[in-house]
Amino acid sequence: MHKNLPKTDVVIIGMGAAGGVAALPLTNAGLKVIGIEAGGWLSPRDFAPDELRNGARNWPQAVQKAATEAPTVRATSDQKAVQGGHPMMNAVGGTTMHYWAQSWRLNPWDFNVVSATRERYGVNRIPTDSTVEDWPFGYEELEPYYEKVEYAVGISGQAGNVHGRINSAGNIFEGERQSEYPMRPLRASPFTDLMSEALNA
Ligand SMILES: Cc1cc2nc3c(=O)[nH]c(=O)nc-3n(C[C@H](O)[C@H](O)[C@H](O)COP(=O)(O)OP(=O)(O)OC[C@H]3O[C@@H](n4cnc5c(N)ncnc54)[C@H](O)[C@@H]3O)c2cc1C
Repeated sequence: MHKNLPKTDVVIIGMGAAGGVAALPLTNAGLKVIGIEAGGWLSPRDFAPDELRNGARNWPQAVQKAATEAPTVRATSDQKAVQGGHPMMNAVGGTTMHYWAQSWRLNPWDFNVVSATRERYGVNRIPTDSTVEDWPFGYEELEPYYEKVEYAVGISGQAGNVHGRINSAGNIFEGERQSEYPMRPLRASPFTDLMSEALNA
C-alpha cells in the first residue's frame, strides 16, 4: 500500500559511500534531504569488527549478514551464478561498513587511461570491443573533492606532492594535492619498511 510522505527537496536512494557522503553538503546547503536505505544500522551480528579473528579465520563468519548477502557471480550466461568474491551487505553506510578503509585517490593518468595507453603502447593496445573510456574531466577537477572527503573522514597518510613540492617519504607519483593529509601516517612496521625499501630501489 502506498503512503504519501511530506514533500522534500532531495531523495537519496542508498546511503552508502556515494549517497551517504552526498547527504552532508546537500543538508549544509539548506536542502531537505531524505535518505532511503535497504539495510539497517550495523550490529555486531551483521559484521563483527574483529580484525584478529577475521584475519585468522575465514571471514566473515557464515552466520553474519555480510556473508549471506554477498552478490552472486558467473563468468558466462550459461553458468550457474554462485555467491562469491567480497562479502557485501545492505546497511546504513553501505559497503563502507565493512570495507578496508584504504582511501586512495586515482592517479592523474587514470583519468585518460585510453589516450595515455594508446600514446605509450600503441593504438592497438586497447581491444576494439573494450568499453574502457577516458573520463570527461581530469584529476585537477576532482582534487578539491578528494580533499573535502579526506578531511571529513580523517584520512591518514604521507603526502608525496603538495603544490608540486615532492616528498620522497610519500608517493612521488601522485597527483598534486592542496594540502597534507589531515592525519599523520600510520606507524611503520617491518612489512611496510620492506615494501618501501623494495619500491624505492
Ligand atoms: C570487502 C570490500 C572492501 C573494500 N575496500 C575498499 C577500500 O579499502 N577502499 C576503497 O576506496 N574502496 C573499497 N571498496 C569499494 C567501496 O566500498 C565501494 O566502491 C563503494 O562503497 C561504492 O559506493 P556506493 O555508494 O556506490 O555503493 P555502496 O557503498 O555499496 O552503497 C550502496 C547502498 O545502497 C543501498 N541500496 C541498494 N539498492 C537499494 C534500494 N533499491 N533501495 C534502498 N537502498 C538501496 C545498499 O544497501 C547500500 O547501502 C571495498 C569493497 C568491498 C566489498
